[in-house]
Amino acid sequence: MTAGQVEAARLPIMLAELRLPTINRLWPEFAARADQEGWPAARFLASLVEHELAERVTRRVERHRLESRLPPEKTLATFDFAAVPKVRKAHVLALAAGDSWLEKGANILVFGPPGVGKSHLAAAIGHALVDNGYRVLFSRTVDLVQRLQAARRELALPAALAKLDKYDLLVLDDISYVRKDQAETSAMFELIAERYERRSLLITANQPFSAWDQIFPDPAMTVAAIDRLVHHATIFELNVESYRRRAAIRTRPMTIADDNQTTLESLDATTTRSGASHEADAVT
Ligand code: ADP
Ligand code: MG
Repeated sequence: MTAGQVEAARLPIMLAELRLPTINRLWPEFAARADQEGWPAARFLASLVEHELAERVTRRVERHRLESRLPPEKTLATFDFAAVPKVRKAHVLALAAGDSWLEKGANILVFGPPGVGKSHLAAAIGHALVDNGYRVLFSRTVDLVQRLQAARRELALPAALAKLDKYDLLVLDDISYVRKDQAETSAMFELIAERYERRSLLITANQPFSAWDQIFPDPAMTVAAIDRLVHHATIFELNVESYRRRAAIRTRPMTIADDNQTTLESLDATTTRSGASHEADAVT
């Protein structure tokens, strides 16, 4: 064995130890070309490192996508903006880029009756953020609340909340399905208070704020939670006909009901009652 062969035999082990799988895979081919074409050593090394860096970004995004539990397929590419005239595509794309709103821990609230695309829109924003290097966790609100309550019983709620800090965005899907009579939901209030102005939440809800007293243990906590959520928030109202139902009866002509203002009115009523002034950025 020549010295060169010995090095070639040791390289895979050393590169694995350094966690450089791309260089490990590519170096024999690149080395052969470099020898053949007389590349300077710096060019050989730089091209290998460039590939490792590029694939490292791809691998990280893949990892983040897996951990996000985002429903696959529910992306911006498959979301039909024509079905929700009140939701401006440009606005959603701006949010999907991330940056400033995530840095200041601002929130997104998505309201509307069942089947209008709330979960799809939430997941689509989540996927785009993962593409852009952010970390997202998509969860049914009931599941997350149950996890937090289990943590509280083991006196580990602060640790459980701290663990969620690694996510730039937590998507709490279907907050309206949480019922205070089914379980003690103050853990959710603590999650909202903990992330306030630090880490973002995206919440979808079938019901307007006025019905949220079904969710939190007492009215004061409901108002305090809503206050924190809407302080820096973008609110989407998807008051259209159910996408599912429309798809099912597409054969018949029909008009899209887009004049249901119940949710917005209730929102106004709630925030006025709480006496707070908000910078809520209602989207119309
Ligand atoms: P919601 O969460 O409001 O109950 P979903 O997001 O689950 O509604 O939407 C119901 C179904 O209709 C899903 O399969 C979803 O992908 C689809 N859907 C809803 N709105 C749209 C849309 N604007 N474009 C594409 N698919 C949509
Ligand atoms: Mg849904």
